[in-house]
Amino acid sequence: MNIHEYQGKELLKRYGVTVLDGYVAFTPEEAEAAAKKLPGPVYVVKSQIHAGGRGAGRFTNDPDGKGGVRVVKSIEAVKEAATAMLGNVLVTKQTGPEGKQVNRLYIEAGCDIARELYISLLIDRETSRITIMASTEGGMEIEEVAEHQPEKILRTAIDPAAGFSDFHARKLAFGLGLKGKQVAAFTKFVAAFYKAFVDLDCAIVEVNPLVVTGAGEIVALDAKVSFDDSALFRHKDIEALRDDSEMDPKELDAVKNDLNYVALDGEIGCMVNGAGLAMATMDIIKLYGSSPANFLDVGGTATAARVTEAFRIITSDVNVKAILVNIFGGIAKCDMIATGVVEATKTLGLKVPLVVRLEGTNVDLGKKILAESGLAIIPADNLADAAQKVVAAVKKVA
Ligand code: ADP
Ligand code: MG
Repeated sequence: MNIHEYQGKELLKRYGVTVLDGYVAFTPEEAEAAAKKLPGPVYVVKSQIHAGGRGAGRFTNDPDGKGGVRVVKSIEAVKEAATAMLGNVLVTKQTGPEGKQVNRLYIEAGCDIARELYISLLIDRETSRITIMASTEGGMEIEEVAEHQPEKILRTAIDPAAGFSDFHARKLAFGLGLKGKQVAAFTKFVAAFYKAFVDLDCAIVEVNPLVVTGAGEIVALDAKVSFDDSALFRHKDIEALRDDSEMDPKELDAVKNDLNYVALDGEIGCMVNGAGLAMATMDIIKLYGSSPANFLDVGGTATAARVTEAFRIITSDVNVKAILVNIFGGIAKCDMIATGVVEATKTLGLKVPLVVRLEGTNVDLGKKILAESGLAIIPADNLADAAQKVVAAVKKVA
C-alpha cells in the first residue's frame, strides 16, 4: 500500500527524521490558510498523487505549463497555484499518459537547498536484507542513474541479527562526500529512517531528494513510503491512510473482500486459488496466444460468497472477453466451488464464455453440478485443455 508524501513525512517525523513544516490542503482557501501558518517568504505548493516525477510533470489543462511542484514567493501566489492545480490532471513519467487528478496539495515551507542527495531503504531479495541505497545524484530519477552511472549508487546491506549501527551510515556519509557536522546529522537521519522502516513494516521508503541545507542540516524534501500489505493487519492506523481515489476501483473492491487482485491489460478474466497456480494460469494463457485481464487469487478458503465476489469484479471489467476458472479443491472442495460458480453465474448473468477446470477433492461431484446447471459452462480436464479452450473462445468472439 502506498500513501501520500505528506502522510509519509508525518510518519517519518515521529521517528526523528527532519522534515519541513507543512500542511495538507483540499481547497485553495485551505492552501491560503496553510501558507499563513508558515514563516515565508518562500512557499512550495506540491501536488499529492501516488506517483513521482511531479516536479517535471505537466497538467493537461494548464495554460501556464508549470509543473506539479511549484516554488512561489507570496501567499497570493500559493492560492493562485492551488486554484490552478486542484481538480486538474497531472501527467508525469510515472502516471502514464492518462495522468492522475490532483485532489489534495501539500503546502510546505521553502527550503534553502545546498545539495540534493538520494536515499532509500528496501528489502533486497538477492541478499534477503534491508539495504540502504544512496547517491549523490539526488533530484534525478534513480532509474536513470542506475542505467547510465551505476557507480554513483552506493549500497549497504544490514545484517538482520546485528541490526543497524552508526558505522553503516558513516560509510555512506563519506561516500556521499559529507563533511564535518553533516556526517553526524546524516547518521542521525539514517538511524531514524531505518527504525521507521522496520517498525512500520515498510516495503520501500525513498527520499529523493534528501537535502543538505545551507545551514548543514539533513532534510527529507520528498518521501515515498510503501508498506508490506501482508503486515497491514498490525497497523490499523496506517491502513486508515489509504486514499481510495488513488486505486483502481476493481482492486479496491478486491482489497475490501480480502481477494488478491491485480488488474492487467489482457482479455481473459482469471479466477484461481493460490498465487502459484494463478501465475501458472497466466503463463499458459500467454503460451496459447492470448493474455490475462487480471491476476486473481481467491485464496485457500474460497467460499461461495468469495467466488461470487470475485466473479462480480471480473465481469465488471469491460476488457474481459472470456473467463477461466482454474481451482484446485483442497480445503475448499470442488462441489462447493462448483456451487459457487453456478450461483454467481445465475446471479450476475453470463455475457462471455466461461471455461471451468476443477481438480482435487470431490472433483466428480463438482463436474456433475456444473454439467447439470443448465448453464453454458465449458468444462476442461486439465490446465492445458482449459487454456486452449478459453483462448479459442476469445478468438471466436473477436
Ligand atoms: P517529485 O519527485 O515528484 O518531482 P519532489 O518532492 O521531489 O517531487 O519535488 C521536486 C523538486 O522540487 C525537488 O527535487 C526540489 O528541487 C524541489 N522542492 C521540493 N520541495 C521543496 C521545498 N520545500 N523547497 C524548495 N524546493 C523544493
Ligand atoms: Mg522527488
